[in-house]
Amino acid sequence: MSNDNIVWHQASVSHNERVERVGHQPVILWYTGLSGSGKSTIANAVDRKLFEMGCHTYLLDGDNVRHGLNKDLGFGDADRVENIRRITEVANLFVDAGLIVGTAFISPFKADRAQARELAGERFVEVFVDTPLAVCEQRDPKGLYKKARAGDIPHFTGISSPYEAPESPEVHLRTAEMSVEQAAEQVVNYLRDKRII
Ligand code: ADP
Repeated sequence: MSNDNIVWHQASVSHNERVERVGHQPVILWYTGLSGSGKSTIANAVDRKLFEMGCHTYLLDGDNVRHGLNKDLGFGDADRVENIRRITEVANLFVDAGLIVGTAFISPFKADRAQARELAGERFVEVFVDTPLAVCEQRDPKGLYKKARAGDIPHFTGISSPYEAPESPEVHLRTAEMSVEQAAEQVVNYLRDKRII
């Protein structure tokens, strides 16, 4: 498809004006980890803390996005890639608007996260929700591991589809050794240390 007739319009309210108004840096908190690792739970706890502190935030959650924006996508490799591409684009719009946006998706492939990082640049904060498969499987909050082990869910990350762990995430949460509260505190402390908030 040709893009010859599409022109990028300059916004009359600039990005810097928006950032000045909200009083903190906009970033993407990109949570990645196995299903049941705690991405949603921790992202929500962080979101609540930041909100209470007066930050402007938004949360893009895996399941919710798949009900709407990405409801046409499945879980095969190509669709997972497209899933992450769209999420990155949307997250970047929120960053442009000046928000701290959390994204809670398994995002199992390094290449996709690298692409998101490239697009977001220094605004990208990778949060590795590092929970051993055995612990996730024991928690099994949505009963998905049971189904995956029974062969009822194809391409299930950790069982029948790979999870490529981040090598140098900005924040590394070992959730088997800490509470949700401690994990959320670690994320907020990172943002404070880097003077993002
Ligand atoms: P994901 O979004 O990664 O699929 P969820 O947040 O939906 O994972 O589920 C994680 C489950 O593990 C929740 O039921 C949560 O209460 C539980 N849990 C127990 N301990 C922790 C912890 N330390 N950190 C995060 N979640 C935990």
